[in-house]
Amino acid sequence: TVKPTLYANEPGLWLDQFPWPTVGGHKYLRGHALVASGPADATGAARLAARGALRTGAGLVTVASPRGALAVNAAQLTAVMLREADGPQGLAALLSDARKNAFLIGPGHGVGEGTREMVVTALKATPAVLLDADALTSFAETPETLFEAIRGRERPVVMTPHEGEFARLFGDVPGASKVDRTRTAASRCGATVILKGPDTVIASPDGHAAIDTNGSPWLATAGSGDVLGGMVLGMLAQGLGGFDAGCIGVWMHGQAAKRFGPGLIAEDLPELIPEVLEELE
Ligand code: AMP
Ligand code: MG
Repeated sequence: TVKPTLYANEPGLWLDQFPWPTVGGHKYLRGHALVASGPADATGAARLAARGALRTGAGLVTVASPRGALAVNAAQLTAVMLREADGPQGLAALLSDARKNAFLIGPGHGVGEGTREMVVTALKATPAVLLDADALTSFAETPETLFEAIRGRERPVVMTPHEGEFARLFGDVPGASKVDRTRTAASRCGATVILKGPDTVIASPDGHAAIDTNGSPWLATAGSGDVLGGMVLGMLAQGLGGFDAGCIGVWMHGQAAKRFGPGLIAEDLPELIPEVLEELE
């Protein structure tokens, strides 16, 4: 067995995996990301994530919206597509198109049964699944139901909790360090866990972990985590595994923030990705 390693999250760790567009490539080879929108009064998070996925290179991005939020989403989306998905059946219909290969749910989605049903539906389908925010908190009372649905899945599952969401889902995880706690959580749930903060830890279920300090305190702003979800989603759509997608997404998110400097808001982050990519190329 391979001994799990602790890495520093730097481009040298993953640059040879980076999914650069190829000459003669087309958008259908770059993945189709699907982002679940919240209700009419909470749609911004999904649009931030969608823009993060598009800027990091996903070929197509669609927002799946409840009926009541279609109008507000339609008024504010251009390159990002929009489809109705009113509840789990609508979502299952969208995901029956196997080209939609990466799905994000949680930001602005609301805590409760409706969100749990959407998550379980997505985990039964084939795409890579990224769970954030309300998608995690919705399982605070029944974490084993979620972990059971993740086990045995073929394509990756990634979770992006901040400390509060992590504690609600995993409880008081023993461990001497944040790296230990994240590793334990990842092996318990079978997903790659990205425990966010100034020292973000990315840990895979097989024990590998990376620690990332490539950010800026200006990232502590509304919607910044939603953009991160979209960036990791963009990498999943382009076919990367959970650990690599997580490491690349977290690094680019931090690098975009550093490039912008003071006064950063979440909307700025996707717009800085072209500069970050130019530097990596
Ligand atoms: P969320 O809590 O979901 O809004 O996510 C916040 C995002 O900002 C995550 O990517 C965090 O890692 C990042 N972040 C929050 N506070 C800081 C900080 N003080 N320094 C660096 N990154 C931070
Ligand atoms: Mg968040």
